Amino acid sequence: MLNYRDGLADMPLYDTREQDWNIKVNANESNIGLPPLVEDRVMTRLSRIAFPRYPNEEYDLLCEQIGEAYGYRRENVIIGNGSSEIIEKVFHAFGGNQEHRIVYPSPSFSMYAIYAAAADATGVPVPLRPDYQLDVEAFVQQVNQSQASLAVICNPNNPTGQILTVEEVEYIASHISCALLVDEAYAEFCEHSVIALLKKYPHMMVARTFSKAYALASCRVGYMLAHEDVIDMLAKTYMPYHMNVPSLVVADTVFQMRTEFEPQIQMICAERERMQEQYQALTGLTVYPSHANFLLIHYAQAEALNEDLIRYGIGVRSFGKAPGLENMLRISIGRADQNDEVHRIIKAFVEGHS
Ligand code: PMP
Repeated sequence: MLNYRDGLADMPLYDTREQDWNIKVNANESNIGLPPLVEDRVMTRLSRIAFPRYPNEEYDLLCEQIGEAYGYRRENVIIGNGSSEIIEKVFHAFGGNQEHRIVYPSPSFSMYAIYAAAADATGVPVPLRPDYQLDVEAFVQQVNQSQASLAVICNPNNPTGQILTVEEVEYIASHISCALLVDEAYAEFCEHSVIALLKKYPHMMVARTFSKAYALASCRVGYMLAHEDVIDMLAKTYMPYHMNVPSLVVADTVFQMRTEFEPQIQMICAERERMQEQYQALTGLTVYPSHANFLLIHYAQAEALNEDLIRYGIGVRSFGKAPGLENMLRISIGRADQNDEVHRIIKAFVEGHS
């Protein structure tokens, strides 16, 4: 018998294996890809990489650029292998023993519970209201009552798509004294970000990703902005040279050329509104208003519908029996032709089963 650490055997595995989908709308990736101008520049820069060297200035340059773009300094930025690594490290930094409690809404990004367990902290989920809005007062109360070391919110929330206003996030920030992580993985698809609040609240952190709006899921790059003291502490939890140069160079190019992505981001938001109306028109479906690049849909026969979609080679996210997400499907917004095809299959199923 191998002597693994306590709790590891009981931890769930986030299974990322995939089949070869005709249409893949299950992980909120981009279905459009890099704008041609960006791709050309990426290829040129990749051809000039010093492959035998450990990463060095590439990391600093990207931190500097990101900091500057938001009115902060290089010292306020940390970059990770996807925002996943950043979030995991934040949980580790504020976890550490069972008495440390980490509070997050539920349902939300399923990894929060897993990272809390992996960090040997106690995860404290705060249920969302039936309309999936977060009751900010109840959240604050739970954070304070549990004497949490970390509070996490996902804005817009995955998988529900709802959003807190800047004022609501500020209400939370100003009523708690523990660390507050705002996961803005989908912020490019909504109206606002809370990055400006960092100047006022040094216990706050904002995590972002290149995986969604910037079509770079393959490279695994995310970043976080926070007070320099927080960044300094968190930096201790990373291994040396944790980012690879190819990913840094690609992310740097994408960040420099980020305005090139505006048309596709606008297209995805417009498609989201169009598809919301189309799904809402189908009898038996409830579609939740979304501020991200996906729609969450409730349908009593969601599992059978998902089986049907799989038969057509369409991958959506089904939540099975996850608490608060029973009979829910999450469908990422793709290109218009893909959205139409997914809708066509769903419409045929729903009309055939009503
Ligand atoms: N936060 C949220 C809310 C997400 O949905 C995801 C991806 N599913 C992530 C973080 C992690 O994204 P990445 O590691 O690709 O940056």
